[in-house]
Amino acid sequence: MSRAAAIMPGATLGVLGGGQLARMFAMAARRLGYEVVVFAPDKDTPAGQVCPRTVTADYGDGQALREFAAQVEVVTLEFENVPAQALETIEATTPVRPGSQVLAITQNRLKEKSFLAERGFPVTPFRAVRGVEQLLSELPRVGPPAVLKTVGFGYDGKGQRLIASDQEAAQAFAELGSGEMVLERFVRLAMELSVIGARGIDGSFACFGPVENRHCQHILDVSAVPAAVSAEVADRAVALTKQVMEALDVVGLLCVEFFLSQTGELLVNELAPRPHNSGHYSIEACPVSQFEQQVRAITGLPLGATELLKPAAMANLLGDLWAGGEPDWTRVLCVPGVSLHLYGKREARPGRKMGHLTALAASAQAARDLVLAARGQLSQDGSLVR
Ligand code: AMP
Repeated sequence: MSRAAAIMPGATLGVLGGGQLARMFAMAARRLGYEVVVFAPDKDTPAGQVCPRTVTADYGDGQALREFAAQVEVVTLEFENVPAQALETIEATTPVRPGSQVLAITQNRLKEKSFLAERGFPVTPFRAVRGVEQLLSELPRVGPPAVLKTVGFGYDGKGQRLIASDQEAAQAFAELGSGEMVLERFVRLAMELSVIGARGIDGSFACFGPVENRHCQHILDVSAVPAAVSAEVADRAVALTKQVMEALDVVGLLCVEFFLSQTGELLVNELAPRPHNSGHYSIEACPVSQFEQQVRAITGLPLGATELLKPAAMANLLGDLWAGGEPDWTRVLCVPGVSLHLYGKREARPGRKMGHLTALAASAQAARDLVLAARGQLSQDGSLVR
């Protein structure tokens, strides 16, 4: 598509999903003068709060999907587990970016790993397993220890178990339910990294990161940039991201999560065809955020500059922080260099992502220290009990 055919500000964009990623996408789109329509099964969503036009319906509601598609020039998404049928319904009249061919692969862990392995991308050694017997026979080839993962709908470590013995294997299989699963080698990790790539309709490419990620109970806890890796590792992570996006023909964003093993291997762990939690730092630390980049990529506008203006770190604010009531936000709002983002979720549950903090500082380590100190202020007796 030539630049003249770009979907220009003033047009209406659609987003599937109403969570914080859709909210921040919508805020970036509206800043550029676009209208946004949110399609979400729930009422009063984080994205719906910032968009006057919302379609509240299930992904199985063909009529609602057609009406949504008719209102918008292009559709994007905030999560990859949109049913294929819903995408087909929309794509009959309106482009979805990234498209259904990307989602068909990235919403199934086995398809994703097979796609990557077949094309020579480095992945953790894995096997497909379809029953306990097969699991027990594959376990010595892959591990132990090994990680058993469901093929679909896994995020934040949901749907996976670490297996160190045959007994644990049988138990893990039963706990995860039956059906097809992926058994993969347990990697001794030196670091977890991510790159958030953007690819335009014309094949242009830009990216954020690599970002260094630390997890807590399988949920992303803290991200920092620049990652403490060699230039070779950083360049390779970026090159792999570009190649994966080309192989999948992604238009839009794709987050590639990497494992860096203790032996120095860089392995692709997972793909997410959307903005990513580890890219939130870009709102404060880059000329163009991952959310504005999503808008630019799907509309055919030129991709924006992604260089890091200052080292940054992001810390998630999970619902656990609300255990003693609403945290006292003045404790972080008074810290220079720290920005607060809250997603407007009414109910704080343990493990639920309610918001995040970003800190800018002279180095990634200083930014990490600052963001953790700021978050610490919220949990140290810092709640406003209602
Ligand atoms: P995933 O849902 O596959 O991204 O896994 C969530 C987290 O579990 C990862 O970010 C890692 O911290 C850990 N993990 C998953 N798979 C492995 C593995 N094969 N080896 C070591 N750690 C893993």
